[in-house]
Amino acid sequence: MAQLPEFLKTECLVGGRWVSANSGDRLDVLDPATGDVLASVPRMGAADTRDAIDKAQIAHEEWSSRTAADRADVLHRWAAAMRADADDLARLMTLEQGKPFSESLVEIEYAASFFSWFAEEGRRLYGDIIPPHRPDARILVTRNSLGVVGGITPWNFPSAMVTRKAAPALAAGNCMVLKPAEATPLSALAIAALGERVGVPPGVFNVVTGGREEAPSIGKALIDSPVVRKIGFTGSTAVGKQLMRDCASDLTKVSLELGGNAAFIVFDDADIDAALEGVQICKFRNAGQTCIAANRILVQESIHDKFVEALCARAQEIKVGHGLEQDTGQGPLIDARGLEKVERLVSDATEKGARIHIGGRPHGAGGTFFEPTVMTGITPAMDISHEEVFGPVAAITSFKDERSAIGMANDTPYGLAGYFYSRDVGRIFRVADALNTGIVGVNTGLISTEVAPFGGVKESGIGREGSKYGIEDWTELKYICLAGLEAAA
Ligand code: NAP
Repeated sequence: MAQLPEFLKTECLVGGRWVSANSGDRLDVLDPATGDVLASVPRMGAADTRDAIDKAQIAHEEWSSRTAADRADVLHRWAAAMRADADDLARLMTLEQGKPFSESLVEIEYAASFFSWFAEEGRRLYGDIIPPHRPDARILVTRNSLGVVGGITPWNFPSAMVTRKAAPALAAGNCMVLKPAEATPLSALAIAALGERVGVPPGVFNVVTGGREEAPSIGKALIDSPVVRKIGFTGSTAVGKQLMRDCASDLTKVSLELGGNAAFIVFDDADIDAALEGVQICKFRNAGQTCIAANRILVQESIHDKFVEALCARAQEIKVGHGLEQDTGQGPLIDARGLEKVERLVSDATEKGARIHIGGRPHGAGGTFFEPTVMTGITPAMDISHEEVFGPVAAITSFKDERSAIGMANDTPYGLAGYFYSRDVGRIFRVADALNTGIVGVNTGLISTEVAPFGGVKESGIGREGSKYGIEDWTELKYICLAGLEAAA
């Protein structure tokens, strides 16, 4: 049995107590690299979720009446605790999610940064004073917490997606009920345990775990509750659309960070080495299981062959293995469904004429490992150009000119991230303007930071997380009209 951090609890934190599911049922958490059972957590359902909502509602009165500075102190302590235990947290993440330990460490810092950042943003939730419409009045605008909010998070960034929601929500005075993904509840529970240690009051942050069978009833209990005023969701577009439909019934606010289909464009005036570095990060990080992964790599005709050859050389160097082994550059895919999807997309593309240069098969390590893969000749007829691959497959297409590259990049219902490499300053502004995405990376494949707004357009979502904008969605404006201020007689 793998060694887990001593502070990890494998029950759910509800109202400041570590509790099992009412049913007593439990869910095994697996190491995707080995299939070994790491631990088990409660399989909670609707009744457990309603209980967590009640506890959060009770906590909200006290938490929301604290000063922003008080709340900031708690969040800063939480960030410091995550940083102090970064190695343990990263090791846990690698065990349940599979990504290399070095990537887990980066994610833990990224996750902690949201507590640090939003601790301060909470102190700057300024209102407004508006010139009044009549002489005896004053108009004040304040930003207030919503109350109880729900967070639903995916498995690919098991810590950062939790704190990117919890940090702004709590900084603004809300209390949260969080439902982490079936595959990665331990990282969320570890964050909750550290929160308890640093003095997050009971009921302010609650975690309800469950499997994919329970997810719809947990989600419905959150949405149907008149007390829960917002759902912040990160996950697939299909589930996001369903949640939004459900939220319409009582107008629960919703923000959605959904799937992507990022184009990564390399123009012939680019610094090719920099573009190769960028695409390697952007494509093979987390075994390609990121919403902002380079899903379609578009390379200008004149440099196509050279670029493909150099990318193959880099991909061949990636060491595939357990994320805790030294030098591992790529871990397993999350589960058998993930592997089946990648295999289906690769075989559909090859049947329709794509060429595999390297990889293309499950890796010899077995389980859900897949070979780093480079393919060319991708066309719009292939499923791989429309669906998120969520695997280590670089799917390359060549293009003729700037206009056609932009047309190809925007030919998708998604609009999360887009990337391009060029050293022509005119082109940089033209293409950055033309890409129909919420995020554009120019001459970089690394765009995630707590200081910038993260989010998509079209079917990639609604709302932004991180940055000074990321706290607004967790607040409501209140307009106060102060009248009767007649001049003294
Ligand atoms: P998913 O299947 O949509 O699941 C996401 C979360 O929703 C999980 O906690 C899941 O629980 C839960 N869920 C599933 N069905 C639900 C329902 N009917 N009601 C309430 N909750 C429900 O997505 P995933 O496969 O975990 O994550 C991968 C997706 O997330 C990709 O599409 C990726 O692009 C996207 N993503 C987007 C961003 C972004 O910032 N835009 C960031 C990361 C990932 P279970 O795990 O228990 O099923």
